[in-house]
Amino acid sequence: MHEVLPQRPISYGDGMLSWQAQSKCNPSNAELFFPGRGDSPREAIKLCNTCTVREKCLNLAVARGEDFGIWGALTTTERKKLIIDRAARITRAAIQATANSDQAMPQVA
Ligand code: SF4
Repeated sequence: MHEVLPQRPISYGDGMLSWQAQSKCNPSNAELFFPGRGDSPREAIKLCNTCTVREKCLNLAVARGEDFGIWGALTTTERKKLIIDRAARITRAAIQATANSDQAMPQVA
């Protein structure tokens, strides 16, 4: 487990985002979401999968570049893969849009 646990749920300046009041994580179970090396994240993922704000939480963690812990039922590795997959989808869509238009294709360096 990390020495300093990020607050659960994440707070901003004066307080939480409104949807965070519905989260299944809180200061009393924060440890679950930051399993140590060799510890299973299963319990945290199970809770996340019953959390009604999972999607918002996941998007926030991705946007903030959270490098540790379970957020939105995904591990750090899974979030990194999600970011790569989303970036690839956006890039393909942009290339496809350009290919379907009269614009010149972007130059690849
Ligand atoms: S999805 Fe998981 S980490 Fe996110 S708010 Fe819900 S319980 Fe907390």
